[in-house]
Parts: sequence; C-alpha cells; structure tokens
Amino acid sequence: MYLSYNTMKDRTAQLIEKRKHLAEQMPDPSSALTGSLMSRMVRCNKPNCRRCQKGGKGHGPIWILSVRESQGRVRQITVPQHLKPEVEEGLKRFAAIQSLLRQIGEVNQQLLEERKRS
Ligand SMILES: [Zn+2]
Repeated sequence: MYLSYNTMKDRTAQLIEKRKHLAEQMPDPSSALTGSLMSRMVRCNKPNCRRCQKGGKGHGPIWILSVRESQGRVRQITVPQHLKPEVEEGLKRFAAIQSLLRQIGEVNQQLLEERKRS
C-alpha cells in the first residue's frame, strides 16, 4: 500500500514537471496565423508568351493563404513575396502552440486519472 502510494505520487510529480516544461516552451501567440500556404502558377493570357504556351509552366509561383471559413467556404488571400516569410512564421507559430496545448491537455487528462485514484 505504501509503495503504490509512493509510485502514484512520483507519477503525479512527473506529470506536473512535464506540464511545467511544456508551458515554459509556449511561444508568444501574437503572431500566430491560421490557414495553409499554397503556391500556384498563373497564365498571363498575353499572346505569344512562351511561358503560357501549351506545355509552358506559366508564371510564378504566386503564394496564396487558403483560409477555411464557416460552412466549408474557403477564402484565398494572395501573399506578396515579401510577406511570405512572415506568413510562414505565423503558421509555424500557430502549429507550435497548438501542439504544445494538445500535449498539456493530455498531461492534464493523465493528472485527472491520477487524482481520481488518490
Ligand atoms: Zn505568360
């Protein structure tokens, strides 16, 4: 009985330590951005443009932030080349926060189980 109680306390302490560590890694959310970045080639429709002739690659790529809105609608925001690094950074930030938050949520589920046992 004494042993199992100790083991449980260790487990709880470990989980709390893990949670603290995860929370400390949480980055500043200010720049977090949702959506997904996609690229697309475009056709200029100018006559005799070599790039746009049959078999040509077209121009680009142009970058588009695709944003899923309510009711399954998708909004597409064109991203100028100079803003692309910032957009990528924002998307990465969002994913990092989401991942940490999920892990913290899982630790708290396990803590809840431990607390029920005590
Ligand atoms: Zn063209």
